[in-house]
Amino acid sequence: MRVGVILERKPGERRVAAVPATIETMAGWGWQTVVEPGAGAAAGITDEAFAEAGAELSSDAISADLVLQVGPPAVEVIDEMVDGATVTGFLDPFVDRAILARLVDKSMTALAVEAIPRTTLAQSMDALSSQANLAGYAAVLLGSASMPRILPMMVTAAGTIPPSKALILGVGVAGLQAIATAKRLGAAVHAYDIRTETQEQVESLGARFISAPTAEADEGGYAREVEQDTQRRQHEALAPYVADADLIVTTAQIPGRPAPLLVTAEMVASMRPGAVIVDMAAGTGGNVEGSVPDETVTVGGVHIHGPTNLAAGVPADASRLYARNLISLLERARSDDGGFSLDLEDEIMGGTTVVHNGEVRHPRSLALWEAGP
Ligand code: NAD
Repeated sequence: MRVGVILERKPGERRVAAVPATIETMAGWGWQTVVEPGAGAAAGITDEAFAEAGAELSSDAISADLVLQVGPPAVEVIDEMVDGATVTGFLDPFVDRAILARLVDKSMTALAVEAIPRTTLAQSMDALSSQANLAGYAAVLLGSASMPRILPMMVTAAGTIPPSKALILGVGVAGLQAIATAKRLGAAVHAYDIRTETQEQVESLGARFISAPTAEADEGGYAREVEQDTQRRQHEALAPYVADADLIVTTAQIPGRPAPLLVTAEMVASMRPGAVIVDMAAGTGGNVEGSVPDETVTVGGVHIHGPTNLAAGVPADASRLYARNLISLLERARSDDGGFSLDLEDEIMGGTTVVHNGEVRHPRSLALWEAGP
């Protein structure tokens, strides 16, 4: 069983799918690991550190039986993998039909971390959560670094600086960490999410929950798309808090749908010059009107960041957690003889295997597949 760990090809991606500790774990399972030279460099992990942990360093890591990657990969990267191989990592399996098509053409098997069930049992494998948590932290630091103000209150001989006002919209995994980080840095924090149960979570972190429309989550724990009237009432309730904020971090997402619009251009125009918005949903349509993926735009003196890969900005810790997520997942598929065997009847492995030997099998991937190009 040869397991390859590749150097990520996407510009700006600094994470890696294995760290020395997880190489050692796989060696203990009898798996032979091959790491592409330089794969860990941007995350601060040298080739020597991988070699000491027991990995072979070779540029043909991508032709292994099982490829560990961060991703999502360009189709050309999948082309480099061998037919019939298994690939794991972010694969955008519910949105990117071109990736599915390549996996099918090459009779491959794909374990997509986006498809790992969000259950208590699978918590240690939940890469969406481990990376969103770090991204929420990084979003506050990004925003704070581009503000003309500090976050905490400061009483000095030269006068008192009042705390900055931070507003966090969307309180899932990333939003909770953004609240906690902004609170730790001393900001006065307000937050809002459409899901009813988030009020208690916001208040338990010492932030204030904004009174705006809430609704029950769907059976998967996710928010549903809202009607136009609800959206209008959200905008009305949020407007005064937006106008008064020094820093806004938006994280609202609806899986498989465009992100909800929470901050309109009119609301941006009401903000003070120098205020900063970090729209973490910029890559899926944006929560903020006018945000641009991976760019910073300035409108009326308000800086709007649209980062799409904040976890890559803290690559050492992001890789450490992500590599651990993959190990927890793969442990369920290792066999005692040093092999790899997928039990598709298993709730976690069956749910995560979006393509098996070239056959698309996850219901959401299947819907995308059958919709055609
Ligand atoms: P996400 O990234 O899909 O969305 C971020 C937040 O945006 C969510 O809290 C959502 O309610 C909110 N949102 C969506 N539409 C909105 C709107 N119109 N207005 C305001 N807010 C809006 O969410 P996530 O961080 O992946 O978490 C989703 C759910 O999964 C949560 O219930 C979370 O607690 C749950 N979860 C469970 C586990 C587990 O049990 N192992 C692990 C992780 C997450």
